[in-house]
Amino acid sequence: MAILGIDLGTTNSLACVWKDGKPELVKNSLGELLTPSVVCLDKEGNLAVGAVAKEQLITDPEDTAASFKRWMGTPKTFTLGGRTFTPPELSALVLEKLRRDAEEALGEPVTEAVISVPAYFNDNQRSATKLAAQLAGLKADRIINEPSAAALAYRLVHGEGDACLIIFDFGGGTLDVSVVECFENVIEITAIAGDNRLGGNDVDEAIARYFCAFNELRPGSLNAEQQAILLRQAEQCKCALSWSNLAVMCLPGPDGSSYTLTLTRDLLFRLCEELFERMKRVLARAIRDSGRNIGEIDHVILVGGSSKLAVLPDFIASLFGKPPLILDDPDTIVARGVGVCAGIKERSGEIRDIVMTDVCPFTLGTSVVNDDKDQNPHMSVMIERNSVLPVSRTDRFYTTRDNQEKIRVDILQGEEYYARDNLKLGEVLITVPPEPAGKQWVKTTFTYDINGVLQVEVENPSTARKKTAYVVNPSLHLSEEELEQKLQELAAIRSQLDQSEEEQLLLATAERIFAESTGRLRKETGRLLDLYRAMLAEGGGPARRHRERKWMKSQLEKLEKYREGEVFDLELPDSWEDDGE
Ligand code: AMP
Repeated sequence: MAILGIDLGTTNSLACVWKDGKPELVKNSLGELLTPSVVCLDKEGNLAVGAVAKEQLITDPEDTAASFKRWMGTPKTFTLGGRTFTPPELSALVLEKLRRDAEEALGEPVTEAVISVPAYFNDNQRSATKLAAQLAGLKADRIINEPSAAALAYRLVHGEGDACLIIFDFGGGTLDVSVVECFENVIEITAIAGDNRLGGNDVDEAIARYFCAFNELRPGSLNAEQQAILLRQAEQCKCALSWSNLAVMCLPGPDGSSYTLTLTRDLLFRLCEELFERMKRVLARAIRDSGRNIGEIDHVILVGGSSKLAVLPDFIASLFGKPPLILDDPDTIVARGVGVCAGIKERSGEIRDIVMTDVCPFTLGTSVVNDDKDQNPHMSVMIERNSVLPVSRTDRFYTTRDNQEKIRVDILQGEEYYARDNLKLGEVLITVPPEPAGKQWVKTTFTYDINGVLQVEVENPSTARKKTAYVVNPSLHLSEEELEQKLQELAAIRSQLDQSEEEQLLLATAERIFAESTGRLRKETGRLLDLYRAMLAEGGGPARRHRERKWMKSQLEKLEKYREGEVFDLELPDSWEDDGE
């Protein structure tokens, strides 16, 4: 039975399967690859999903919902045809259409899917996506980040060789920038930054606002239908500029008059300037977090519908000094990557060996008070954002009051200083023997696995009491067996974090040279060993460790050829200075 790869987009969704050794996009019932992520339930109770519903955005905007992916994981609801829907319920309707259409096209039932989400999605948003899949009758235990999927698809075309990529995923409602390192059979996301409120829709809105200002129209004076027409025209003109130098917008005015605006690329560039500034901030953060610098980026790959924005390549070229790489179809690249991932899940022989690593896109921590003057708990970081998954960190937390009977470990997610400004995912409460403040403590371990499941273990050593919490949304309904399996997977993580065999070999070689040598050679080998041990102790993701291994190997080769009396120059790896991971 086929596993369906699904790119659940803000604007459009796509399905893909792994077939005959390659990803194959699946057409919907209209013979199209893109299914608009739009749902309409009219007053008569007729339901439409996809292209039909997209049309109804104009004719029946009150009963039609679009861009609901932006609201996943939030309490916002939509009322269509007098019924209230949550964002996961609306997404489930889109997923269900994709599933049914795929079953039709493939001629077999589909019960399992791999779904992509923006890398920047938090736990609530991921859980909401899984819930949507469940509601659509799909088992989706693998959620993949969109940039990982894009890099997988890039790898399929551009093959092997070391490369440091930026996946610039600019969709209808979100921008995701990821730094991805590819080497051997590894694809590693080393940093993510994003803005889940910045997308092509904002370009449409900027154009529409300018249209109103230019024609001296108050946006509030337009009714819902006129606003929808204006936005649609703005979008059409924006797209038209991809192949034409100018595009004209026209809205009927009173008494047969009309409001118009001629849009050129220059004007579009100016209207986007504020959005470009926001993009720059996201790019700068991703590159900084990856420990790389702008000159080390081999390619910027544009992904997502809005990457066709006519003025985007110029903006990217002005920043990076080289044009972006536009793969044959930026609209479908994520879907094709998810198709590859579905293939990996099916364990198809040809691609079984690709290793994908991901990073935790947000900081996880707990709340502490350790300043007498400021009783507002602040965030104590356990897992830094952009830590490579799987990751596990342990820390101690002490009682702060005399005879305190319980220690509460809050589980927080976010980048803010004060605990209250971050998202609370859960808590673990543990009883401790009453003693003077600061005597009793708990050992707390946060473990975050490759599927984005967080396990928090809290242990009081004096009573040997231990409590474990899994942060999965209660609406997710994990079965006993699935939980058991997660437990085992998590237990396996810690051992995975051990040194690789290759690293052990490098250390052993250096030790051998040290033992065999005397004088200057011995001294230099010792210095090298210390440096490399320090690097390993610092940790770092697979890409960094790969660079360090390459460096260590080249230094050892030099030492092997070293003749007494020569000068040995210890060369630091390229990224040594700026690699502040
Ligand atoms: P996605 O969410 O990835 O499906 O992206 C949809 C977004 O891509 C919408 O905002 C579209 O307006 C935008 N888009 C599609 N084609 C073009 C184009 N030729 N130029 C600019 N934006 C485009």
